[in-house]
Amino acid sequence: MNYSDSERVASLLEKLGYLRAEKWEDTDLFIFNTCSIRQKGEDRVFGQIENLDRLKRRNPRLLVGLTGCMVRSTSSRNSQKEIKDDLMKRVDTIDFVFKITESHKIGEVLAEAEPRLDLPELAEADLNDYLKINPKYTTKFQAFVPIQIGCDKYCTYCIVPYARGREQSRPMDEVLAECRALVEYGCKEITLVGQTVNSYGLSALDKTTQKFEGIKDPFVTLLTKLDALRELGLNRVRFTSPHPHDYTDALIQAHVDLPSLCQYFHLPIQSGNNDVLKKMNRKYTVEEYKTIIKKIRAKLPNAAITTDIIVGFCGETPEQFEDSDKLFKELRWDMAYISRYSARPGTVATKAFKDDVPHQEKARRWHKLNDILEECSLENHKRFEGKTVEVLVEKFNETTGECEGKSRENKVVQFKGNQELVGVIVDIKIIKGLSWLMKGEMKTA
Ligand code: SAM
Ligand code: SF4
Repeated sequence: MNYSDSERVASLLEKLGYLRAEKWEDTDLFIFNTCSIRQKGEDRVFGQIENLDRLKRRNPRLLVGLTGCMVRSTSSRNSQKEIKDDLMKRVDTIDFVFKITESHKIGEVLAEAEPRLDLPELAEADLNDYLKINPKYTTKFQAFVPIQIGCDKYCTYCIVPYARGREQSRPMDEVLAECRALVEYGCKEITLVGQTVNSYGLSALDKTTQKFEGIKDPFVTLLTKLDALRELGLNRVRFTSPHPHDYTDALIQAHVDLPSLCQYFHLPIQSGNNDVLKKMNRKYTVEEYKTIIKKIRAKLPNAAITTDIIVGFCGETPEQFEDSDKLFKELRWDMAYISRYSARPGTVATKAFKDDVPHQEKARRWHKLNDILEECSLENHKRFEGKTVEVLVEKFNETTGECEGKSRENKVVQFKGNQELVGVIVDIKIIKGLSWLMKGEMKTA
């Protein structure tokens, strides 16, 4: 999501006359697209901003701005006190901030922060809805397309519903038009993004706008329509992140029926214990989650399945953690994003529960799961040895002479190649499965 947002902001900046700088020292404008999911992300941003102080003293023209989850109100250092975001009160170096959903106000807020700037007016089309802004895609062959903003699930630990607002989906025609234009431009892989992407078109706000009236299963309908873009060159469709509560049988079947849809499932569990899941307000049980996995594996035995999990949530006992540990050994996910719980201001968990699992214990639990993950990941990669996978090449490393890309199962694959292969889909025979990636060689015709 953040990646796609950055591409939209980059596109607006280009329209305002800004060019990409190659070095930090040469830049007149820094914008940090922040994530406040965990405290660590915020700390990193503040650390980097501190480093800019030195540059600011050397270059008085330099402006520093922030957007993303950390921002609460679009404003600049020259705004009236009442609307000025607290971030500027906390850190002098920040000149302006804007809510990502108000990216279209970027010219306005820049001019307020620095009245001497002479910026062109943005076109009317860029001034309404930030999702309508044409992004400046970083690669031609892959794109992230947001289909939904906000979240209505209110997991007790999570800042997203407060930072991003109510869940609303983009009209299907608009999403399809963006995807079609991308494919016509040469895009081979599209990843649809949203916080609970599989509830696309079903939120309370979506219902009030009647944009999806009469469409029975909007997300599967969207995927089916996207699949038709194969005839123009679309090869792969992925999506992130779906929520287990909304994972329907029809969606699993779509992975069987639609050739473009990759056999890759990212299905966040968050905890292996039902009491913890309830306290997190996750709206499903471990048993319900396992049923989804069982159905996927019955229909698609070779699919890759990954997850997100939090360790050390408020009050998580060693026994409750052991349930997560057992589930890791049982389900053997291909990959997992393991987070140590980080209290976020304003969330229900911060107000109602105590962040009482000590740092060291969170670290112990993290390492325990990570060790199991490493073992499962190696085992899963070894299963591919001798098999051939389709790889979309993302980059070439001149030093090692190796290309790197991802298989349809989202596995990282490296092989000897050349720069010309970047953006090409090639068949690679897997020679060796390692813990976090697979090594292969290109099949010759
Ligand atoms: N919407 C997705 C879902 O419901 O699973 C996840 C999106 S969330 C932005 C990404 C991941 O960050 C979550 O799956 C969770 O594991 C982690 N996360 C969110 N809030 C957290 C917190 N307060 N502390 C630690 N990890 C957190
Ligand atoms: Fe956060 Fe839960 Fe929404 Fe995911 S579903 S974004 S974890 S509130």
